Amino acid sequence: MSGPPAIEVENLRYRYPDGLEALRGVSFSVAGGERVGLVGPNGAGKSTLLLHLNGLLPARLPGEAAVRVLGTPLTPATALAVRARVGLLFAEADDQLFCPTVGEDVSFGPAQLGLSRAEVAARVSRALAAVGLAGFDDRPPHRLSAGEKRRACLAGLLALDPAVLALDEPTQSLDPRGRRELATLLTGLPVALLIASHDLGFVLAVCRRVVVLDAGRIVADGPAADILADEPLMLAHGLESPPPWSVQGRKNYSE
Ligand code: ADP
Repeated sequence: MSGPPAIEVENLRYRYPDGLEALRGVSFSVAGGERVGLVGPNGAGKSTLLLHLNGLLPARLPGEAAVRVLGTPLTPATALAVRARVGLLFAEADDQLFCPTVGEDVSFGPAQLGLSRAEVAARVSRALAAVGLAGFDDRPPHRLSAGEKRRACLAGLLALDPAVLALDEPTQSLDPRGRRELATLLTGLPVALLIASHDLGFVLAVCRRVVVLDAGRIVADGPAADILADEPLMLAHGLESPPPWSVQGRKNYSE
């Protein structure tokens, strides 16, 4: 695909004020429309990395931005504009849904963009339809199933017309049907995806490429089928190869 990469991360380092260095020089890029799995043991730095992609955590090296989104360096001055292009899906849907109704929740982001009411309403209907929740506008989020909540969160991000979605453990608390529906939904979206997950079968189903992060460093980056099948690599980094049925599942989504 032409144009600048959706995401470029160059030598990104981050130390929590009270903690160890969570990211120790991470470099990679994600092309427009590419779907990349981010795997690694607990504490590897996956969530910390995702939080840097839309400026929720500081992302600057002295004099030079460590993160670029569609070619734009992510700095305090660009963070607001970039945040609209990079949607971040949190592991806990309840952290993301905070309005009395699904419709209000999904309209919250676009309403901040200074769009007309009609345009906001059009974006909300399009986003809800895209995630299979057309007609859910007046439903209170706490009455939704886990899968519906996850999709409502996604609708809120899609309503901003993002170029990139960064997803933190998107299959957490989903049943197998919700998980399949989410895989189908994600593979049909015209955006770049970075999916942090321990659900390696899901990663294999949705992503052609996998990046392995451990102790704040990238230790492998390549085709998902090769990396996830590399059992010594997986075991060395606290993971395990997904079961064969997942490989079968991959044909349904990624081809
Ligand atoms: P992962 O998502 O791969 O499990 P995280 O990015 O959550 O990893 O964590 C990376 C490291 O940063 C871990 O050692 C974790 O303990 C530490 N960490 C995460 N969040 C905080 C925080 N808010 N304050 C201090 N340390 C943190």
